Parts: sequence; C-alpha cells; structure tokens
Amino acid sequence: MLHTREPRTLRRPSGAAGPAISDITEEASKLPAFDGHERIWCGRDETCGLTAIVAIHNTALGPALGGTRIWRHETFEAALTDALRLSRGMTYKAAVAGLPLGGGKAVIIADPKTEKNENLLTAYARMLSALEGQFFTAEDVGMTLADADFLRSKTSNVVGTTKGGSGNPSPATAEGVFLGLKAALKHRRGSGDLSRVRVAVQGLGSVGWVLCEKLRAEGALLTVCDVDETRMQSAREAFDATPVPADRITAVECDIFAPCALGGVISDETIPGLKAQIIAGSANNQLARHEDARALMERRVLYVPDYVINAGGLINVATDLSPGGYNRQAAMQKVAKIPKAVTAILSRAEAQSRPTNDVAADIAWERIRAAITD
Ligand code: NAD
Repeated sequence: MLHTREPRTLRRPSGAAGPAISDITEEASKLPAFDGHERIWCGRDETCGLTAIVAIHNTALGPALGGTRIWRHETFEAALTDALRLSRGMTYKAAVAGLPLGGGKAVIIADPKTEKNENLLTAYARMLSALEGQFFTAEDVGMTLADADFLRSKTSNVVGTTKGGSGNPSPATAEGVFLGLKAALKHRRGSGDLSRVRVAVQGLGSVGWVLCEKLRAEGALLTVCDVDETRMQSAREAFDATPVPADRITAVECDIFAPCALGGVISDETIPGLKAQIIAGSANNQLARHEDARALMERRVLYVPDYVINAGGLINVATDLSPGGYNRQAAMQKVAKIPKAVTAILSRAEAQSRPTNDVAADIAWERIRAAITD
C-alpha cells in the first residue's frame, strides 16, 4: 500500500525536557508488516539510551491502547516490524471485543534485565505525554506492574497500574479463555460440559495455571507441560494432571489443546500431529502463518482465534479509561461476553465454510467501518 500521509510534528512547549520524537510513518510504510497504520512515532534520548517506537494502527473506534514491550531486538527494523504487527493485532482485538478503543503497541529497544532503569522509563513517560492522548499503554513482555506504576507516576497515559488501576490482567484473561473454550466445546459437541473432557495445557504461567484450576474444578482431565519442571510437578499434584515433555504437548491425545505459552505453536510442523478437535488458549499469535487456520479447518479442528479468546486482559485494563475508573464487576461483566463473540465467529465460519480467523477479521473491520461512516 502506498503511504501518502504528511509527516506530523508534535506540539511541545519550547525547551520542554524529553526525548526527540519523530514521525517515522513513511519509513515504516516500506516494511511488509505495514498495514495502513495511522502513525508511527520514534522517540530517542541518547542521555539514557532510549529508543522507543509507538505504532498507532487505527483509532476509528477510540484512542489506541496497547502494551509496551521492552526487548533487546537485534535491529531497529525487527523492533519496528514487531510494533507494526502487534499494533494491528490490538485493533482487531479491541474491535471484536466491542471496546471503544483503537490498536497500538510500543516497543522499547533495550534489555529488560540490564538496561531498564528509572532514567529510561522517565524518558519514555515523557514521550507518552507528548503524544497528546493518541496512545495509552500498559505492561507487556519485559515490563512489570511496578514499571507500569512508575510510568503512571510520570504520565497519565498508562493503565493497568496497581494503585487505582486494574493491576494484573491475567485472572481476567484466564476467565475469558475458560468461558471461550467452553463455548467452543458447546459449538462442537452441543454441550459445554467439561467433565472427563481431555484438555492439554501448554504453559503453566499466570494464565495457564488459573485456567487449569477452572478446568479441573469442572472435571476436565488435564495433560500439562511447561519448560519449568517445578511448575509441572506442582500441576501434577494440584490438578492430578499428566505432565509431558514440552515438545510433545501438541501431539498428545486430547479433545482440546490450550496454548498458553508461546506464539507460533500451530505450524506446518505441528498441524499434522494434532489430535485435538478444538484449539482454545491464551497465547498471542498462535498460528505461525495466517493460512494455518485454513489447514486446521480442512482437518476439522476448530480454532478459536487467539485475540478473540484472550481479550479478557484488554477488556479488564480498558475499564481503567471508563468515566468512573476501574470497576472489577463491570470489567468481568464484559469478559463474560467473550463466549458470545466466540460462538458468533464459529457459527459464521461454519456457515460460510471459511477459516475462523478470516471471519474474526471481517467482524473487526465491519465494526471499524461502521464507526467511520457513523
Ligand atoms: P507467563 O510468562 O506467566 O507464563 C508462560 C509460561 O509458559 C511460563 O510458565 C513458561 O515457563 C512457560 N513456557 C515458556 N516456554 C514454554 C514452552 N516452550 N513450552 C511450555 N511452556 C513454556 O505468561 P502468561 O501471562 O501466563 O501468558 C501466557 C500467554 O498468553 C502468552 O503468550 C501471553 O502473551 C498471552 N496473553 C497473556 C495475557 C495476560 O493477561 N497475562 C493476555 C493476553 C495474552
């Protein structure tokens, strides 16, 4: 797509401290991951080593919201590609969840273990303030809730903090995945009853562990894996789960596979060995390639698009921006609508014989277009 937007500059009081911020939309538009993004900003501050990219994909439904990832990318282009891809995903996630929000994502190129410090975060907070409310952020890979709290003490453009904000998003994510998984089961079998249903859970972290608790409480039989051996042993005891080595989880005999660890787990390599009839989990970017959803459809594997079923965390954190501020009950009422969204997508995909991820994208764009033409 040819990019034609004029470069923008930000209004800032002369002499105001903060990183140099430039509009790099033109440069970003040359990358394959560019998808008509509205604006890409780059903030640099040599005094503290900040290089940050804020990618704003689409704000038709509201201001962009997305996490800030702090990661030691090998090249600037790799970081930019990451920001472009992730921000686009946030547009879809917010739109399908029915949130009045757009899609954005930020990447700070730094090693979170050795290069993250208060000076770096302060410079980044100044960049966020300078963006004139276009972008709100929260924690992501490489950033902790304490970092989010620190940023919030410097700028108002941060959500998901522990002081007055929604805090840890994982319980809401796990609840949404649990409800969405049951909706998929009901769609496939006519009943969402989990008793003796075999579920393989990959990753026993903040989301995977809570998901196992919920599944087990309703009688599911669990097979689990994690690269952390201690977590696997704890799961064996807590859930009477069967632990398997990490490289075997995609091929175990089960009814449902719940990826809750990494992206790219569904691929040319793993699809032939899958035994599950349903894939429903929290991991972002579960498909190695968009086309993998078609291969799953042809094998009659029901794939619940990741950004639909894992939207609970976003729904929870978005509540911070509502007029009264964060309200857990209001957030969980919205999370409870995830199964309805899942069922609508699975039903339409079946009726049209199309992959579920294509249908989910259609629904996102229908909502965005409706907002533009209103
Ligand atoms: P986490 O870091 O708490 O847990 C991930 C777990 O996966 C860890 O226990 C880790 O040891 C394990 N793991 C890593 N590599 C593995 C492998 N190859 N095989 C098996 N296990 C492996 O992360 P989380 O917050 O539970 O999130 C899980 C996934 O869900 C991630 O992809 C995340 O991006 C996505 N997600 C999380 C949220 C949220 O609210 N936390 C929201 C949306 C999406």
